[in-house]
Parts: sequence; C-alpha cells; structure tokens
Amino acid sequence: MTDKRDEYVVRLSGVDVGTHKYTMVCDKAFFELTGLNEIEDGSIKVLIEMEKSATMLSFQLHFKGEITVICDRCLDFLTLPLDFTDFLVVNLVSQIDESFENDDNIWQLHEKAYELDLTHFLYETIELALPTQLIHSEENNCNPEMLQKLAEFAPKEEQQATETDPRWDALKNLKI
Ligand SMILES: [Zn+2]
Repeated sequence: MTDKRDEYVVRLSGVDVGTHKYTMVCDKAFFELTGLNEIEDGSIKVLIEMEKSATMLSFQLHFKGEITVICDRCLDFLTLPLDFTDFLVVNLVSQIDESFENDDNIWQLHEKAYELDLTHFLYETIELALPTQLIHSEENNCNPEMLQKLAEFAPKEEQQATETDPRWDALKNLKI
C-alpha cells in the first residue's frame, strides 16, 4: 500500500532547472484525506507547470472539474463546476527564516528539500474558490420535496438576506 498523499507530492531532488509539468486529480479520496467536510464528492483535474530555477520554484496551476456539496437551502446535493487558475511561488533558501510567514501563494522552502507536498495548498485553494453561499442558483432548482419537509419541520424558516455575491455589490458601487 502506498500513501495516498504521494500523489500530491512533487519530487525536487534530481529535478533539473527548467519547466516541468504534472497532472494531479483531486477526487473523493482526496477530500476525505484532507478532511474538507464541506465537499461530499468531486473530481478536479489540476494541470501544473513548475518552473524551477536555482532560487525559486514557480507554479502555475489550472483547476478544472466539479465538486458536489450540500445545498444550504434544500440540503440536497449541489454540483458546482470549477475552472480557475492560481499560482504558487516557493523561494528556495539556505536557511529557513523563522520570521517569514508563509503567505497563501508565497512560501519558503529549504534549498536541500527533496520534495514539496502540495496537498495543503490544493485543498486550501479549492476551498477558497468555493462561493460563499452554497445553494442552488435558483430556488426552482432546489429539491421541492426537501424544501417542503424543511418548511414543515422548521418552526420559522430563516430567510436568506441576500443571494447576490457581495463582490458584485462592491463592483456595482465602483461603477457609480
Ligand atoms: Zn437547493
């Protein structure tokens, strides 16, 4: 048995300076491994291009696929497509600077490190890419039976204050 996590580890020792490509798949087993409870299922293919230099590893990552979560409104499954890119810069240092705080996208790593585990980066990036509200886009798309049952059992259903993405509201304000 091999450790499942090996799939998300990039070997560095013996890897030449230059461009290297990897494909990683974040599937149900990955989400179980990372304990990302919000995600019930999914399959996201991550195409990774790593540019290695003497002092730095520069990653470009393209995430594409879909994940299944639970709809906050009807509690039925909701499938969300994901298609986005992100980056990660890893500075290779001869001595780890303890005062350096790893940013989401900028890390430091000892130059003699023989591998880099991307598990944490992959799941954090996917989590950040999820919409703030996990609900079917329209109430019509929610499971009507589930909605009815919820209405029966909930003494008073809380109304969602707003379904618009706050980022869009911010954009609207900018235009004015
Ligand atoms: Zn729903």
